[in-house]
Amino acid sequence: MRNRTKLFLTLIALICFAFASPKKVEPKQINVVIDAAHGGEDFGSTIAEITEKQIIDQVIAKIQAFNKNKNIIIHYTRSTDRFIPLKDRTDFINTIKPDLVLSLHVNASPNSNTSGMEFYVSKESNFYEKSNLIAENFQTKFLDSNYKVAEIKNANFHILKNSEVPAVIMELGYLTNDIDKKNLVNNNEQNQIAKKIIECFSELK
Ligand SMILES: [Zn+2]
Repeated sequence: MRNRTKLFLTLIALICFAFASPKKVEPKQINVVIDAAHGGEDFGSTIAEITEKQIIDQVIAKIQAFNKNKNIIIHYTRSTDRFIPLKDRTDFINTIKPDLVLSLHVNASPNSNTSGMEFYVSKESNFYEKSNLIAENFQTKFLDSNYKVAEIKNANFHILKNSEVPAVIMELGYLTNDIDKKNLVNNNEQNQIAKKIIECFSELK
């Protein structure tokens, strides 16, 4: 009987212990590669003095500065203003094997009325479905903030097709559209975009 009581008390103690100190679940580390488009002699879309690579570098500097989440580790295909061939970019991405590669660009069109953000994923990627889900999350996040965002498009760009991880290209807006251009070079707008991108990173699973 005494033994049984002992056993009973031990069991109660164990159960209490199990409930009192639940195992701490370490937050998941999220690895992202940001692919800064163009660089060096490759300016990307250019209107007067404004260049695509310059806008992208400004937004990336803000992402870097605003990311206070120690569980979001961001790697960059280029950290200086120099040209990196596409193959070197995907070789780097495939070595890191991040949870996402986000390639940032700024658009241009012969039609000055064309405007808004765009997201691209590739159906030829083995990670098409995951990429599409992530792009949908980005799209929703920016639509909620009153950005004009187009449907997610399918394209077989090198980065999308050859990254062996989920990959999304994000076009921040059109330099050839007056309103987009004004926003793209605006400090506050760039801050908002950078913050939204970090929010999307934190939701990667
Ligand atoms: Zn570009």
